[in-house]
Amino acid sequence: MKVTVDAAACEANAICASLVPQVFSMHEDADGGDVLAIAGDGEVPAGLAGAVRDAVDRCPKMALVLRE
Ligand code: SF4
Repeated sequence: MKVTVDAAACEANAICASLVPQVFSMHEDADGGDVLAIAGDGEVPAGLAGAVRDAVDRCPKMALVLRE
């Protein structure tokens, strides 16, 4: 299972990062703005599949894309 982010849709509100910090985290870009980073090139560890699915469902911008 792989998760990616549509950077144009993401508003960097850190909801996903608060839900699954092992996978999602916030970083500063070169301009000092917050951007979302996804660990492990988006490959979701099996034990976190349910938590990542929940984060995808709860992103208010529907910016997270999951591929099984
Ligand atoms: S919950 Fe959605 S909008 Fe918020 S940081 Fe994560 S991907 Fe971006």
